Amino acid sequence: MIKKWLLLNPPTGKYIRDTRCQASVDEIFAVSERAPVDLAYIAGAIANNGNECIIIDYSAEKLSWLDMLNDLKILHPDYVVINTTMFSYADDLAVCSACKDINNNIITIAKGAIFFYEPLMIMRNYVALDIAVAHEEENAFNEISLNTKTLSEIRNIIYREKGNIIKNPSHINAELILPTPLIQQIKHELYKRPDTDEMQASITIGRGCSGKCIYCIAPLVGGAKVRYRAIHEVIEEIKLYYYNYGINNFYFSADTFIWNHDWVKRFCEEICKLDFKISWLCTARADLISSDILSIIKDAGCWGLSIGIESGSETIQKLIKKNLSKSTVENAIKLCRNHKIVTLLHFMIGFPWDNENTIKDTIRFANKLKGNIVEFYMTTPMPGTELYEIFKNDDRLKLSLDDKVMNQNKTESGTLYLTANQLTKLRKKALRSVYLNPFFYANSLKYITSFSQLINCARFICKKLYNIVIKKQITESKVLCKKKF
Ligand code: SF4
Repeated sequence: MIKKWLLLNPPTGKYIRDTRCQASVDEIFAVSERAPVDLAYIAGAIANNGNECIIIDYSAEKLSWLDMLNDLKILHPDYVVINTTMFSYADDLAVCSACKDINNNIITIAKGAIFFYEPLMIMRNYVALDIAVAHEEENAFNEISLNTKTLSEIRNIIYREKGNIIKNPSHINAELILPTPLIQQIKHELYKRPDTDEMQASITIGRGCSGKCIYCIAPLVGGAKVRYRAIHEVIEEIKLYYYNYGINNFYFSADTFIWNHDWVKRFCEEICKLDFKISWLCTARADLISSDILSIIKDAGCWGLSIGIESGSETIQKLIKKNLSKSTVENAIKLCRNHKIVTLLHFMIGFPWDNENTIKDTIRFANKLKGNIVEFYMTTPMPGTELYEIFKNDDRLKLSLDDKVMNQNKTESGTLYLTANQLTKLRKKALRSVYLNPFFYANSLKYITSFSQLINCARFICKKLYNIVIKKQITESKVLCKKKF
């Protein structure tokens, strides 16, 4: 019998929900809204088994909790899939109780990186959640929807049986094979490239990383090895977007896209053979950028690289096991500038060993690099990482797993030398040093090729400045007033 599946990004805030990143879209400079392609891959697997799938991104569609309740009543789903993040899981998982209140027979399934760590505890706290999927979600959903196996036979899930919570073994496949995404369920017009306002699709290119960075969950989520998809499958997916929706702008999602130069070169060769041009953005490690690879990706349509640098202090670089030297980073960013590739640079402040001097080094370094978009995240100890264990085992660092506190733009944890309050002030100082500096804008102007692009960029930066600096300040003043009176 055909089952109806509702897959949703809940109305609990705009987050990047398709990867380990999970940043808040409104409160982080270096990210923009992305299509729920993760749900589309899952829906592809479920629909292949003869089921009906509906995808709704409540946050992107600006729909409310009430709208979601109405949908649950009107659509009568058999299954509801909830996309969670570490920063919103409490609100996200409230959807499960809402489903059960409407129809106790709805099977609720949540997916997200939060289920890597103490999933049993989460299942105990959220009793309306029936099944949690930790990783390799397309496989798990394929098997659940096929209904030929018992839950006990499906890997990477946590489920309830006769009042017990059972966690099945974890498994990461050797190869990354994804189903054809159900892209007809995505409202493509909602997801735009910020500088050109053109529709932009996301395609998962790879998963996993063999990096040892102590704060990163990529090796846990995607495996401790970079796995790329088969090139011809990605090319078919590009064609699917282009021929059906005219989309030729892409975000190529991978924990680190520029890792294996040989794969990247072969992929770019195939892109160049297409009978239409595409533009794209991807991720890279600074120490894997070379002039050779930049000219190849540029020729294939790459316009931007998203690069995690994290700290301007080489001592911190070693402690966090990122191990980037300043000269390597400077050289990489200079090469990007020479190839006219836009750089989105990511820094983190608030590592346990950070003091005022190391953070000032980071701010100075960020300004010196002259990236086109710069973000300073509050260091967030993600459960499951080495950094999380460091925070957990040192009372001075004041760890909190409360998702209202744990966020990349706010913190209640300190470092060994700084309080949370001092960190918050330093982050503001860092953002101001970049975004209130006229030279920053003068540098980025060189990449603008049209008046409309100028207007779009100005709109994007103003919106972010309003959300991050002004709106946040108003909210904080209101909280302060409430506390006073
Ligand atoms: S290189 Fe990047 S993706 Fe890999 S572990 Fe480090 S931060 Fe994570």
